[in-house]
Amino acid sequence: MPHTSNQPILAVDIGGTKVAAGLVSSSGKILLSTRVPMIPDRSAREGLLAVFSAIDQIRRDPRSKNSRGLGISVPGWIDSHRGVLIKAANLPCWRDFSLASRLSAQYALPARIANDADAAALAEAVWGAGSKSENVFYVSLGTGIGTGMVRLRQICLGRGGSAFEGGHMTIDFQGVPCPCGKKGCIERYASGTAIARLARKLLRRRAAGSSRTLSLAGGKLENVTSEIVAQAARSRDALAASVLREAAAYLAVWLGNIIDLLEPDLIIFGGGLAPVMLSHLPRIRRELDHWAINPRRRQIPIVAARFAAESALVGAAALFHSVQ
Ligand SMILES: [Zn+2]
Repeated sequence: MPHTSNQPILAVDIGGTKVAAGLVSSSGKILLSTRVPMIPDRSAREGLLAVFSAIDQIRRDPRSKNSRGLGISVPGWIDSHRGVLIKAANLPCWRDFSLASRLSAQYALPARIANDADAAALAEAVWGAGSKSENVFYVSLGTGIGTGMVRLRQICLGRGGSAFEGGHMTIDFQGVPCPCGKKGCIERYASGTAIARLARKLLRRRAAGSSRTLSLAGGKLENVTSEIVAQAARSRDALAASVLREAAAYLAVWLGNIIDLLEPDLIIFGGGLAPVMLSHLPRIRRELDHWAINPRRRQIPIVAARFAAESALVGAAALFHSVQ
């Protein structure tokens, strides 16, 4: 059967705890989806079987029969030219693993693979908030910070496919150690993990029995999360508000570097923490006047992503957006 651009795309988003699979229309709509648990820390074969089981569920639906390709997103280092997952911290079952060709052989479909932040960036650039822009910089603000750059609806891959690891740009060379091995990465100051860590540090220091943040965490420091900090800030907790202001200030320093380096047409905030940081946008904008020297910095919109938790799944499908 000749391929047409109306054919849907199979997509799979593989994480450390779950595999999401879906069928995505040629306009970026999820027609059906499923998730199964991932088996990340046993053999390569067992990891692969978990992925097969998610895709097999989608393949049982007759609408998937004329899929034109299989898009894959994973949270790790990719060699996009060879379709190889080099390594991913949350997927120790695979090292230098030819994930794309294994899935391609299993389903007799062309397969393409991308890093999950790159995939999410592509989803926004093709079908989401950036669909009218040429140069889109995407930031995923969640447990960590992921970034992707898309130019003319193509992911900027760098030499081998591992470019735009923006969450690990150092903004303080004497700063907080990061699990990546460097110090002072932006992820240590403005991610969900960083916000929870800073709130716990302040609470420990001032032994604030009356803090709304602590009461929302049931009085236990170890239960403080970025969601709780955001909730406390909404009910005017001073400590929570100051933590979020600090995270926003760090984010502005980093975004200033991004703007001066890349001058994107559009910056998109995605991920679970995006609404919180977008609520600090006036402050981030004011700070950017100090941290970016680009004369057009004020003309670059900073907007919310269209796709939420499913962004990497839709983005995996977007790897086939231009394939007829
Ligand atoms: Zn780092």
